[in-house]
Amino acid sequence: MGLFSDVERMGLGGVDMNNVFNEGKKQTSASPSELEQPKETEKKEEDVLFDKSYQCPICDNNFKVKAIRTGKVKLVDQDEELRPIYESHIDPLKYDAVTCPRCGYSALTRYYKPVTTAQLRTIRQEFCANFKGIPEEDGCMSYRGALLRHKLSLICAVKRNAKNSEKAYIFLKMAWLMRGYLEELPADDATREELIQEENECIQKAYEGFQAAFSKETFPMCGMDEMSLRYTMAVLAHKLGKMEDAVRLLAGVLGSKTASARIKDKALVLKDTIKNEVMANK
Ligand SMILES: [Zn+2]
Repeated sequence: MGLFSDVERMGLGGVDMNNVFNEGKKQTSASPSELEQPKETEKKEEDVLFDKSYQCPICDNNFKVKAIRTGKVKLVDQDEELRPIYESHIDPLKYDAVTCPRCGYSALTRYYKPVTTAQLRTIRQEFCANFKGIPEEDGCMSYRGALLRHKLSLICAVKRNAKNSEKAYIFLKMAWLMRGYLEELPADDATREELIQEENECIQKAYEGFQAAFSKETFPMCGMDEMSLRYTMAVLAHKLGKMEDAVRLLAGVLGSKTASARIKDKALVLKDTIKNEVMANK
């Protein structure tokens, strides 16, 4: 499969991508994390980085990776797909997947925590044993580097039988990273076409995973309450051309007593967009 061909070449694939999401119930709890706070003037990404320490739950290695200093970068907007947009073209999303440089164990920062003995054994045998290192990133993280770390996180999440919501969330993040990467690439870059295709694949997988998670897991899910997830899924469904699904999900948001005014406003805008598109196609 194209999307994971690079990690396959590294000998780290071996995951059936048609079977990423499972029926299971099981472990792991997500703690909500908050994003960024204000501060003025044009900034450079390298100026807001610092070395964050981690201890690998698989090999106990202590290591440092670059991270964005919380509070140093202002969130300026969210695009229609809910992707957060930050000031000065700084993209904190690139720093959200952590890879142990020694054994390769990878996860999103919020899920980088102890695992069970069974998970540890599987990850060691089926993942770390094949890990031969990844290219180091000097200074700012590249989109390629970030995508690679997210793919490794996805594979590790499958190996430790993580919740469907976590795996779906990694796909969503990858789609956002590909969008950010596309915005950075020149219009005539030869890799654009492939990236657009991969972005779509990630959106498809994210939607599939959140669908599997929705009725079986408890909220908040990946830091999202039920209405935020409903709206996110509506956005994904719309992107995939599943208009009826999108409309149904939006109706749930608009008819809800608990949804915030902000999320209802967004839902109304998307509902109008869909209505116009459907009219135009008649
Ligand atoms: Zn490790």
